[in-house]
Amino acid sequence: MKIILLGAPGVGKGTIAKLLTEFDGSVQISTGDILRSAVKEGNALGKKAKEYMDRGDLVPDSLIMDIMEARLQEPDCQNGFILDGFPRTIPQAEELAKLLARLKIKLDFVANLDAPREVILDRLTTRRTCCNLSCQAIYNIKNNPPKEDGACRLCNHQTIQRDDETEEAITNRLETYNLKTAPLSGFYEKVGLLKTFLSLSAKDTIAEIKKALKA
Ligand code: AMP
Repeated sequence: MKIILLGAPGVGKGTIAKLLTEFDGSVQISTGDILRSAVKEGNALGKKAKEYMDRGDLVPDSLIMDIMEARLQEPDCQNGFILDGFPRTIPQAEELAKLLARLKIKLDFVANLDAPREVILDRLTTRRTCCNLSCQAIYNIKNNPPKEDGACRLCNHQTIQRDDETEEAITNRLETYNLKTAPLSGFYEKVGLLKTFLSLSAKDTIAEIKKALKA
């Protein structure tokens, strides 16, 4: 599959993307995960991105487009990809359209994930992420907790609350989403690529996305 997952922080993009990769070998490409790895490694990209991320602001479009131009040409993308957290702005969507045309890649559709604001806020404050960069499994302390000592059930590394999951950063991320990313649904609706899915239970959402892929 070749799809984009669109939706507010906390709507479930990461969880849905990980489950979809098990379906047909498509790779999850999360710009958030790529940037967090860069910050942890302390490389040049990470140093540039950290201050924006900690505040809950978006990283400049040019940095993101450089990452994605290289990533989409890696061999594992040939089986398909699930874009998670990219594009995030209209300029990124415009640049992506040009890049895909150049690479002769056609998207199946853009899956717009939707959930009520209370559900999103609750998910963001109760989310825990595995600190192991090659795992980054996502948990929820209420309904999908890590082990009792906080360790990841997959790789045993500790799970953590992300730096941008403080109340202040979450509020800023949701405002940034409404201002800069929400207009992307109109952008993709105009070109006939948008399909909206309710994202309350991952199992139901996955089933609906698979149905749409087969249609
Ligand atoms: P996420 O894990 O997708 O919520 O991303 C975490 C943070 O990484 C965001 O709050 C942004 O600071 C940054 N980020 C991730 N993807 C993008 C993107 N496509 N454009 C700009 N900033 C991004």
